[in-house]
Amino acid sequence: MARFTTFRFCLDPTVAQVGALERHVGASRFAYNQCLRMVFDARRAKESGVSVKVPRTGYDLINGFNRWKTSEAAGRVFAVDGEGVASVGATGLHWRHEVFQQVFEEAAVDLGRGLAAWSESRRGDRAGAPVAHPRFKKKGTARPSFRLRNQFPRSGKPAIRVGDGRPRSVRVPGIGVLSVREDTRRLRRMIVKGRARILFATVSRGRGRWWISLNVEAADLHPARRHVEAHASTPWVGVDLGLSSLAVAARSDGTEVDRIDEWPRTLAVTARRQRRLHRAVTRKKRGSQNRREAADRLGRYYFRTAEIRRRYAHEVSNRLVKNHARLVIERLDVGGMLARNPNLAKAIHDVGWGLVRRQIAYKLEWRGGELAVADRWFPSTKTCSGCGAVREMGGVALRTYVCRSCGLMIDRDLNAAINLAVWAELHHGADARTRDLHAEGPVDNAHRWERSGRRLRDGETSPGDVGTDAWTLQV
Ligand SMILES: [Zn+2]
Repeated sequence: MARFTTFRFCLDPTVAQVGALERHVGASRFAYNQCLRMVFDARRAKESGVSVKVPRTGYDLINGFNRWKTSEAAGRVFAVDGEGVASVGATGLHWRHEVFQQVFEEAAVDLGRGLAAWSESRRGDRAGAPVAHPRFKKKGTARPSFRLRNQFPRSGKPAIRVGDGRPRSVRVPGIGVLSVREDTRRLRRMIVKGRARILFATVSRGRGRWWISLNVEAADLHPARRHVEAHASTPWVGVDLGLSSLAVAARSDGTEVDRIDEWPRTLAVTARRQRRLHRAVTRKKRGSQNRREAADRLGRYYFRTAEIRRRYAHEVSNRLVKNHARLVIERLDVGGMLARNPNLAKAIHDVGWGLVRRQIAYKLEWRGGELAVADRWFPSTKTCSGCGAVREMGGVALRTYVCRSCGLMIDRDLNAAINLAVWAELHHGADARTRDLHAEGPVDNAHRWERSGRRLRDGETSPGDVGTDAWTLQV
């Protein structure tokens, strides 16, 4: 079992369940903040000369929190007897039994990860942008969520179950059976056949709804669905993710092997609608019911377009990884592009390039293919694929590349795709199995974990069992 994927469902909780969900969200935030307070207190004590261990890992924090929650420091409840004499009736966090205890532990684990990322980043052991020190979570700012681990008792059923009793439901320990709006059949079938198991459930609130994300460990794709190991003789296919065409794929010999031009019409129409909905919000009086309603409409609209984009990105990435075992894409400096060209920013956002690229990376890996990522500074659009001359290009409006040295006239995106394939033949020709799959960073949206888990090569799942999104496991 080697793939990690996420199934996300929209919840339909009862009024009582909403109360329970909110209690757990609050408990998760509370535990995170309390653990952070313990870290700060210990550091302060240490600075003033007290010999004390500063909690660092999730394990330290869990133990610290468990000691604290039953202590007097967490609160006292007084009992008053018939003669009016008060005595301490109970100590500790008085509401601690109203939530499932794991919620505290997972919050502590999250803080432990945040602290580790911060200290790695500070030592220079971590790639990417600097990571800030964890901060207190304020109500209303962080996205409200909590996470629970699944448990697999030796006898009996796992704690988190899908479709138990009724098909459209998820059972979450401490809360009960929650209704979901979508069909859970795909996941249920995988679990029943032993091809998947649920590791975690993350419940969150956003866009006016409650959601549950189930992190699932799944078996590898069926061997027949995988590319036979990409061989040194397999030609590289360059993929240019552009603006005029979403994706153009070509081989180093100049053959165009794929072109994805079609845009979902809905996405093209949306920009204007988005502006109108946004204006509607800003025109309404702050704090008014009307403004809230307009904001809800805008939120629902964002959500819908994001869904369309995601679905389309899956289509595009599936098509590319199904047909080609060795792909080369460009490492895009999206951050830099956004800063330089605010108009491009919107375009990039709409295209969802990042999404397509991440999906290509993990799907190709599932299929045993090979991915190369060209250097950010490789001038794929400025180089002539005919003679290799490099020249400055005009804006993105220019759709044809014209070479002044050899006179070649070629579609701009095709030119870039060919150059990428040529680059890969040069840099990854013989036996180089690129390990650049995760250089792009996290694969998922729920857990920003960087490294991939162990991979085994047997087992069987079909491409239909893919899940909503993939994620990688921290080693
Ligand atoms: Zn040329």
